[in-house]
This record gives sequence, C-alpha cells and structure tokens, in this order.
Amino acid sequence: MTDYKHCHLILECAKCSVLNYMDPFSYWNFTGKTKCAGCDSVYAVTYSNGQRIKGPDAAEGKPDRLPGFAQTKDFKTQYTSPDKVSPPAYARDPANKHGPTYKNVRGNLVAAGKLTAADLQGSRARFIVEGTPYKPSS
Ligand SMILES: [Zn+2]
Repeated sequence: MTDYKHCHLILECAKCSVLNYMDPFSYWNFTGKTKCAGCDSVYAVTYSNGQRIKGPDAAEGKPDRLPGFAQTKDFKTQYTSPDKVSPPAYARDPANKHGPTYKNVRGNLVAAGKLTAADLQGSRARFIVEGTPYKPSS
C-alpha cells in the first residue's frame, strides 16, 4: 500500500493506517494534540505554514483539535461524525443563504445588500471594502 508518512498535512496513523487530513487552513499553523479518527490515538503535532515541523508523536490526554476529515487507505470508509472529525470553518453561517438584509428608501426589505467590512471578516474581498466606508440605509 502507498505510504503517506511524507505528506505534511496527511497524518497517517501508525497503529491503524487511517489517513487523517489536517485540513482546512486552520491547521496550517497549529501546535497541539490531535486524535486519529480510526482508533482514537492521540498525537502531538506542530505545523508551520502548512509544513509539519514536529511529530506525529504519540501523546496522552484530550486532543486540542480533531482532523478535518479522515478515511481508510482503500477509500471505502469515511469518518464524518462530529466525535471523530471537526466541522469545517465557515466564513459565514451556512444557514444564512445571502448577505445582510436591509430596508431600501421605500421601506421594502432588500436581500443581499452591500456588505460591510464586518460582513467580510475573513474573506478575500475584505480589503476592497476597507477604505470605502458604507452606511446602511436603515
Ligand atoms: Zn489510528
């Protein structure tokens, strides 16, 4: 079978060979403990700029962060339950389908109006909004 031990952001468990994906970006600069989704072994790891600096070393205790996704090497078993993997980091609440809703000059609700800098927290377009102050109509 293929060996993934050289891959920085794929943590291959030494005990059960489950592939734990240290993804998304929230793992790129991370120091702490994580848990194998297959056998619940705890590993101490250190990542810097998406590169694994240290580990995986066997550790004890409670994991700081769970892997983003995990699967077996034959790709037939996936681990998606919240006790095994962590939910993805969203820039916006996924239940919120569009941007902010506000009232126009006639008093009607308008969906998906202009975004403020706070709405774009963590997004790439934020720098476009910064420097151009926006005042909502309501
Ligand atoms: Zn394991």
